[in-house]
Amino acid sequence: MAPAGIGIIRISGNEAVHIVDRLFTDARGEHVLASAPGGFFRYGHISDPRGQRLDEVMAAVFRAPHSYTGEDVVELQCHGGLLLLTRVLEAVLSAGARCAGPGEFTKRAFLNGRIDLTQAEAVMDVIAAQNEAALQNAGRQLGGVLRDRIRTLREDLLHESAFIEAALDDPESYEEELAGYNERLVAVVREISDAIESMISGAEDGIRLRNGVRCAIIGRPNAGKSSLLNLLTGTERSIVTPLPGTTRDTVEESVNIAGITLHLIDTAGIRGNGTDAPDAVELLGIGRARQALAEAELVLFVADTAVPVTEEDRQLYRDAAGKPCIVIANKTDLTDAQLSPEDFPGARIVRLSARTGEGLEELKEAVSTLLLHADPLQADEIVIASARHKALLQEAQEALSHLTETIAAGLSEDFYTVDLMNAYASLGTIIGEEVGDDLIDAVFSQFCMGK
Ligand code: GDP
Repeated sequence: MAPAGIGIIRISGNEAVHIVDRLFTDARGEHVLASAPGGFFRYGHISDPRGQRLDEVMAAVFRAPHSYTGEDVVELQCHGGLLLLTRVLEAVLSAGARCAGPGEFTKRAFLNGRIDLTQAEAVMDVIAAQNEAALQNAGRQLGGVLRDRIRTLREDLLHESAFIEAALDDPESYEEELAGYNERLVAVVREISDAIESMISGAEDGIRLRNGVRCAIIGRPNAGKSSLLNLLTGTERSIVTPLPGTTRDTVEESVNIAGITLHLIDTAGIRGNGTDAPDAVELLGIGRARQALAEAELVLFVADTAVPVTEEDRQLYRDAAGKPCIVIANKTDLTDAQLSPEDFPGARIVRLSARTGEGLEELKEAVSTLLLHADPLQADEIVIASARHKALLQEAQEALSHLTETIAAGLSEDFYTVDLMNAYASLGTIIGEEVGDDLIDAVFSQFCMGK
């Protein structure tokens, strides 16, 4: 929390309006909230239960079910001082409210059926979005696009299952009703399965757009790593956040490049097999740098084209093996020398001057080609951006391919409904239908207070 112009205290539940009514008086000193209709927005003062005035506020009343949680809600717009807000919060608590748990407002909205689980998750994504595409996608999910998509697929599955059940229940015309049905079912299943597959295949991009990509900048000392970092952050600075939980000396900054957020990790500590034995502090730095490299999802390898490639360069490049890697042939303003692809097998080489910025566009293009399969802003469909959703879509897909095998094997129709309903259940878990408390707790525990 930080001090701000305004700070909002939100109270939700049956007693919300009554509790705040005891503390809030309007400009004429009257308690007016208890009888206030939904959409009521009134200027006044908030006092503690002993009657001591705390702040000049605006009070907004929302009546169930037309509120964020679906319950009666009061929002108090106070001045945004931390001490002041603590006092107002204490007053509300002593008047009978209790503190909300992480994500509890959104959890109530979900439990009260106002939103589904994908919309609840989208609340967090909208707040955390670090780039345009992630924000746009989270906004669509919040609007219920993913929920509707999943619901449609589930309805189709249910329709087939119900048809089979009905036919089986009717032994007299059973043969007749199911004649030619297999072919029809195979076609329906293929259609659903294709739709699910396209969602799964977009998920890799979606998850990257949502979470950003950990990117290690490596290279020998003096190759130009810091200069590259400055170039990227200086010209592209849109978001600058140190990553939580990581030490200052390895993590530098987050930048948006070609629509994707890169969490740039400085690995200046990596040294090759130099002759001087590194001291203890340096060893610590090297250890962190190696870890940063190990955790990186993208490696920007900076090589100095003004000097010959050495074994140290090659070794460092081998260390990054297996990661998506762009080799940056740096200092092109000094020389026309080219890097030999043989020294960096499999890498995309981009020529750049970190000093003049020449080649930056090509670098951005290389980043985007390497990390994204489609232009995120062009997608008019929802993009799956959560590992949870992806795993459940895969589960549904498995049930459908099992069904296809069952049909091909000529098994009886009884078996079809099992697979259909398995797929139906997996998709249901995405939107939070018939899910257990443990899943709900797991989802909402990721929220912060006040959401
Ligand atoms: P690091 O040790 O890999 O972080 O390298 P630095 O970014 O500190 O750069 C080392 C030296 O090379 C500095 O003097 C930079 O000014 C210089 N340098 C870096 N990139 C370029 C470049 O593209 N062109 C030129 N001419 N000099 C560069």
